[in-house]
Amino acid sequence: MTTTLSDLTEFVESQLSGWPEAKARYEALGLTERRIERYGEWPLIVQHNPARAVSTEARTDAASIAARPCFLCSSNRPEEQKAIDWPEDWQLLVNPFPVLPLHFVGASRSHQPQSALPLAAIEAALAFPGLVAFFNGAKAGASAPDHLHYQAVLASELPLLGHIEKLHRSFGSAFSDELDPALPVKFISVLASPDDDELMWKVMNARGRNAETGLPDPDMVNTFVWTDGEGLLRALVFPRTRHRPACFFKEGEERIAVSPGALDMVGLFIVPRAEDYARLDRARIEEIYREVQPAAADMRELWR
Ligand SMILES: [Zn+2]
Repeated sequence: MTTTLSDLTEFVESQLSGWPEAKARYEALGLTERRIERYGEWPLIVQHNPARAVSTEARTDAASIAARPCFLCSSNRPEEQKAIDWPEDWQLLVNPFPVLPLHFVGASRSHQPQSALPLAAIEAALAFPGLVAFFNGAKAGASAPDHLHYQAVLASELPLLGHIEKLHRSFGSAFSDELDPALPVKFISVLASPDDDELMWKVMNARGRNAETGLPDPDMVNTFVWTDGEGLLRALVFPRTRHRPACFFKEGEERIAVSPGALDMVGLFIVPRAEDYARLDRARIEEIYREVQPAAADMRELWR
């Protein structure tokens, strides 16, 4: 049986028709407040999404993770949650805490730690043009660092992807500050020629720089993979230095409860608290990116 994007859309509809709690969250998404901060041609989006507080405030230290039942293991999932077995050894699930209107989680069938970008995410990017698969490293926003997974949403919901498709036209990798110096976030853009396995291997093995140890760290990356309008495989790699910025740990009016994962890095800032939605201005957005990412020179060193 082949699985297509239209099969996945039907799957979402059937899931939501039998799962009122998840359906209510998808409907609430349409009511979330959004604001655009424009950087040149690129619109960064700030989304006020109270339902995501669970994920933003999640304790991801080893003790807290060990103490809770893993929500990606099939034995712990809610009865309503169904799965599509795809590809081998993996399952596709509807995310019951959505950020975007079509929001999937690809989960490994077995409980094993989040490690490098899994091949299943690249397979999803190739099998479902129109979707973008993305990955949070274990120390870069993964809400289940103990269970290997990726997520997928519609590529058209993330304006940075289309922006980079226009700017990055030659095969190989390019640094974002060379493609568009106006961007407040830094990443490596990859345009893979069809037979370039080596470049995708590099994407799968990308590393950030752990600010605590000073060492390269494969758990400190966010990665996006998708097939563009010309049928070519693309990726964006965001090396990280920290999971959370300083403002997350402050108190009172200094606090901004943002916990950047892949979607925040690609310019969709998820803000659960109303006060933070007002506080998160351009200066703070830029500061957050600086705090959780390596400097430009180190990014080149890490990608070497
Ligand atoms: Zn698990």
